[in-house]
Amino acid sequence: MHILLGQTLTFVADPFRVPVTEAVQHERRGGVALEAGRILAVGPADEIRAAYPAATVTDHGSALISPGFVDAHAHYPQTAIIASWGKRLIDWLNTYTFPEEARFGDPAHAAEIAALYFELTLAHGTTTAVSYATIHPESVDAFFSEARRRGLRALAGKTCMDTNAPDILADTAQSAYDDSKRLLERWHGVDRLSYVITPRFAPTSTRDQLAALGALWGEHPEVLMQTHLSEQHEEIAWVAELFPEARDYVDVYDRFGLLRDGALMGHAIHLSPRERARLKEAGASLIHCPTSNTFIGSGLFDMDGLMKEGQRIGLATDTGGGSSFSMLRTMAAAYEVAQLRGTPLHPAQLWWLATAGSARALHLGARIGTLAPDYEADLAVIDLASSPAIAQRAARAETLWEAVFPTIMMGDDRAISAVYVGGTRV
Ligand SMILES: [Zn+2]
Repeated sequence: MHILLGQTLTFVADPFRVPVTEAVQHERRGGVALEAGRILAVGPADEIRAAYPAATVTDHGSALISPGFVDAHAHYPQTAIIASWGKRLIDWLNTYTFPEEARFGDPAHAAEIAALYFELTLAHGTTTAVSYATIHPESVDAFFSEARRRGLRALAGKTCMDTNAPDILADTAQSAYDDSKRLLERWHGVDRLSYVITPRFAPTSTRDQLAALGALWGEHPEVLMQTHLSEQHEEIAWVAELFPEARDYVDVYDRFGLLRDGALMGHAIHLSPRERARLKEAGASLIHCPTSNTFIGSGLFDMDGLMKEGQRIGLATDTGGGSSFSMLRTMAAAYEVAQLRGTPLHPAQLWWLATAGSARALHLGARIGTLAPDYEADLAVIDLASSPAIAQRAARAETLWEAVFPTIMMGDDRAISAVYVGGTRV
């Protein structure tokens, strides 16, 4: 039994649906009791200490005890090419991404980058990530082996591409099906690991491959499926050329059994009314990747409109198309993108998106992303005065959110003062 003391923050409701004051429970001096990898109790510090007098106590002072961040879309193989200068999506993929991804058939390289990726994400307070691997099964094994060694909840899948990709990075419809199936059977449900069926995006899969992966998903409805959707106008025009029989980009996935509850659609920026209605009806999750969208010049995600429609939305870094491993920086970028659309987001909404909202988008909303009893004890402890610039602003704050917002806008890994994975400090 272990008790952590600090400020505690629990979302009891979705702050996009109810007023922030009703969505959040905050204790200025709170306690969180942990046992056997789970949260046992959350409440005022005095009550928690009195309830468990024999527990070990770690006092985090005035730091904020939050659920660990949940990154709903990332490419761990792109760790070493983050922040590479490029023009647009397709150019960026060909110049930087594909040459680097080609190296992941080497298990030693894959293992080295997987270890580096988790070092970096944990240092930024991210305790769960959903990653694309490369076409190589070795890259999936490396990711899951490293996540398992660290006791993490993690999700990933083999990226499938059998057309419009360099030969060295192409599989086939059959090998994509066979490799994905074997990896799913090897890793899904092992400890806290989940397999995700992963066609990269419509332009790099033939109809046969999309159909094969749709069939695999039909055979394994318990797993998630991730892909990219409507990131850039050039890409959308290309999809229309490649699949003239489809009504639109969403319809391409729909035709092959790749659109339903459990589909994670990365980006989802430029959508028609029909596509939005169909995504909502299907119960897909839309994953907003704001640092990537500005870095690659893709466009402004319609958070306000999509939330009002009742879409299920998660937040993600999209490293290395995204320019930061930090979900704090990602929240700041989501705020800036929403500002450019004239629809500001409240800091509570940003924090919810990076924790409970992303967990919900991954269908893990009952396990991670919330500071409440029975949830898995994956936590990030946030120093709300981690640099002189932040500290002087936070010192003037009169409310919790006024104290948190400077860290959202200006914070980085220095703001992460402790991380717990399955109740153990890492
Ligand atoms: Zn991506």
